[in-house]
Amino acid sequence: MRLANVSGRLVILTADDRGVDVATVSDGRFGPDPMSAYAEWDAFTSWASGLDLASAPQVDVARADLGAPVPRPGQVLAIGLNYRAHAIESGAQIPGRPVVFTKFVSSITGPDTEVVLSDGDVDWEVELVVVIGREARGVSRDDAWAYVAGLTVGNDVSDRARQFADPAGQWSMGKSFPGYGPTGPWLVTLDEVADPDDLRVVCEVDGAVVQDSRSSDLIFSVPELIEDLSAGLTLLPGDLVFTGTPSGVALGRPDKPYLRPGQQVRTWIEGIGDLHQTFIARP
Ligand code: ZN
Repeated sequence: MRLANVSGRLVILTADDRGVDVATVSDGRFGPDPMSAYAEWDAFTSWASGLDLASAPQVDVARADLGAPVPRPGQVLAIGLNYRAHAIESGAQIPGRPVVFTKFVSSITGPDTEVVLSDGDVDWEVELVVVIGREARGVSRDDAWAYVAGLTVGNDVSDRARQFADPAGQWSMGKSFPGYGPTGPWLVTLDEVADPDDLRVVCEVDGAVVQDSRSSDLIFSVPELIEDLSAGLTLLPGDLVFTGTPSGVALGRPDKPYLRPGQQVRTWIEGIGDLHQTFIARP
């Protein structure tokens, strides 16, 4: 199942440009707010599995109307330095335990946006984003996938000057400027993904591939992240986990080609979809 936020309404997609409006078809049991599905994920998926999608009334879905598949997550966890080559290019040690920070919720947007560049050095980071579907506390890695509603694509846009400012760095501030958390274009449930532990993750800047890796190269896999995070805090339905970015960011390149006004970034993950950001100067 693919779930989209279409102008603020929850839609189960039957094609990239068509779908079933959940509030209409469920007679108001679920939706229209996309968050309603995550709040009752088991009940929602149970209801949805009994739907005859082909014969249900269809609505047109315009790409421009897509919003964040999880528009108001309660928490946004993000993992730093979770690919070996990226840790090395960042001049950091290989972490022995996940490096955790937050992207503040106000940074989260939909898939196709214009993003105003902040004053610092702005960088791209393709990331596989996990959406939590069940409250998780003290979950073992063996059980972890059962707590996941699905996957989406994210770009952990980062202002490196702010992120690494003395004396202690400000990772969360450097990664939470308005629009610095594009997500989407929809949520894909795990049954539709060939191998959720091994997906190609790619970022392109003005059509040139700058990052190209696989989620199987994560230092801490998705199940290991859920085990570690849920040992320390309670994960809630609808929470997002940005799982980390592979090598190829501007920070790791000799010429440090940080984003400039007018540049276009495409972020995509195999089997899920793509995001498009145009970066613009502050008006
Ligand atoms: Zn990141």
